[in-house]
Amino acid sequence: MQNHILVVEDEHAIAEVLIAYARKDGFTAHHVDRGLDVLPYMKKHGADLVLLDLMLPDCAGIDICKSLRRVSDTPVIMVTAKVSEIDRLLGLELGADDYICKPFSAREVMARIRAVLRRSRPETAETVVVGKLILYPGLYSVYYHGKEIELTPKEFQILLLLGTKRNQVITRESIMDQVYGRALAVSDRCVDSHIKNIRRKMMQVSDEVDPIAGVYGVGYKLRLGEENHRISNADGVGIAFDEGKR
Ligand code: CA
Repeated sequence: MQNHILVVEDEHAIAEVLIAYARKDGFTAHHVDRGLDVLPYMKKHGADLVLLDLMLPDCAGIDICKSLRRVSDTPVIMVTAKVSEIDRLLGLELGADDYICKPFSAREVMARIRAVLRRSRPETAETVVVGKLILYPGLYSVYYHGKEIELTPKEFQILLLLGTKRNQVITRESIMDQVYGRALAVSDRCVDSHIKNIRRKMMQVSDEVDPIAGVYGVGYKLRLGEENHRISNADGVGIAFDEGKR
């Protein structure tokens, strides 16, 4: 199925170029020039990705991004005219998936779009089973010891990453890259708090074993299934430790 992109841009010349490129790359694309048209369009037609200009005549891209986030997980790439804006936007934690600065090349924008779309989808559609943990990527559902656990989309993506690469220690950087993309790689603590939440939700079902091992200074590793006793020497990268005792 073709991916559908919504371009929100009041400068028609820019929108036209973006749409031409998107179509050439095999996407379908639609353009709206008013911020107020975004939510109604999304409700009616939906989109796989929204390319959102920050400066619109009728309302701020920031507000649109926020209200979009309240109703959907559709990836958003924000477009701003100033590089210096990006830090401020990151600080606002709008939930955008990437940021692009004007002037940009349409080619660069398309590359970013493809990267965000890749990230927003689980790498595998196949069921992942690790010990008593079962992940269904297509359904975004997780079962642990036979009980369903409610995870946020980001938590799900992190757990899926740990599950698909269960024999490896996953660095915080690659978790952030996978889940937020490099533009949002601002705080390690963000990953830590997601991990804390995943662990808490899993341990509410069974506290037999702490399901996720933290590897000091490196990242995280799933501590489930047959790998149970090998965590203390994960390929020589470090020593597993208990987060609680840090
Ligand atoms: Ca504008």
